[in-house]
Amino acid sequence: MQSIMYRNTYAKIDLSAIKHNLDIIKVNLGGKKKIIPVLKANAYGHGSVEIAQFLENQGYDFFAVALLEEAIELRKSGVKAIILVLGWVAPRYAYLAIRHNFILTAFQIEWLESIQKLNLQGRLNIHLKIDTGMGRNGLRTEFEIMDFINKLKSIEEIELSGVYTHFATADDIDNTYYNEQVHNFHRLIKVVKTAYPHKNLVIHIGNSGASIQYPNDMTDYSRVGVSIYGMYPSMSVKESASMKLKPALELKSEITHVKQTRAGDKISYGSTYITKKGDWIGTVAIGYADGWLRRLQGTEVLVSGKRMEIVGRICMDMLMIKLDQAYEIGTEVTLIGKNGDATISIDEIASKLETINYEVTTNLSSRIPRIYAW
Ligand SMILES: *Cc1c(COP(=O)(O)O)cnc(C)c1O
Repeated sequence: MQSIMYRNTYAKIDLSAIKHNLDIIKVNLGGKKKIIPVLKANAYGHGSVEIAQFLENQGYDFFAVALLEEAIELRKSGVKAIILVLGWVAPRYAYLAIRHNFILTAFQIEWLESIQKLNLQGRLNIHLKIDTGMGRNGLRTEFEIMDFINKLKSIEEIELSGVYTHFATADDIDNTYYNEQVHNFHRLIKVVKTAYPHKNLVIHIGNSGASIQYPNDMTDYSRVGVSIYGMYPSMSVKESASMKLKPALELKSEITHVKQTRAGDKISYGSTYITKKGDWIGTVAIGYADGWLRRLQGTEVLVSGKRMEIVGRICMDMLMIKLDQAYEIGTEVTLIGKNGDATISIDEIASKLETINYEVTTNLSSRIPRIYAW
């Protein structure tokens, strides 16, 4: 995070909302089960270092990220918690996991063989990934699992400490495919436990969708991402869930120029917007390089508690809005969040972009400082 903001465009992250969300997810899970906060992609755009440090102070001691880079960034910032890397990591970098105490995800015999050849100093901790129907990474059959475990047993330097799977449709209303995956997992975990009798295998299957909709199916740990930031994993879960998540992120900018136009004046690249006589036009200090994509032309922002339309093409660093009157330079503009009595939700933006909320916050670029409030 930058310490000086020369441009007044920022994302405000409410840490108390994140605490609230985790608290109610934990209650929904029945209190005893533990949460592995998922901090990949810069904590879904919320700033992984600050969120990890905050959650560590709240007593969380197990995080998940997608990349080795993301795990290293957290360690470098002083995070002590166990960090599970969910993605595939090349065997030649396994020494970094030993050095920094990360858990790697494993699911290939060739991968185990490569590690074996490296003669690593120290023990590598892995979680086995089982593909029960996501169709992405993981072992799929009983035989694959038995071969994997047999290989594993011949390698001193590797310790299997956990097993997990990932759901493809846990955020749907229809639970048919979800139940198939749960069933597959129970069938396959038995194979693991028989082939590798180990006292403390950490088992985790759920994401946000499953943790909200099917808490009773969840195991000792759940990997929870999007919902800790106050977003629902789908619109159907949002509509049906009894828990009230609090959005943690607001996106703010300011008006840097205001003018009254004549009829027929043209606004921005391509002159796609033509003013009517007397239109007030404001320039706002945010653009597509900040993650406010060009396709958001024609959508609204909030000024003084009112909705104002983005007119003309969105530029790299600026956009123009049609105002209802003159406003002072420096007037706050809300792109996501509350302004007066009005609110623009991340889901509204996602719907305008015909995408999901995950994509909106992960696309807010590094040019936007994240400011933390408690
Ligand atoms: C991203 C991810 C999660 C978190 O999913 P949410 O829907 O954000 O809760 C959990 N597990 C894996 C393997 C993931 O990649």
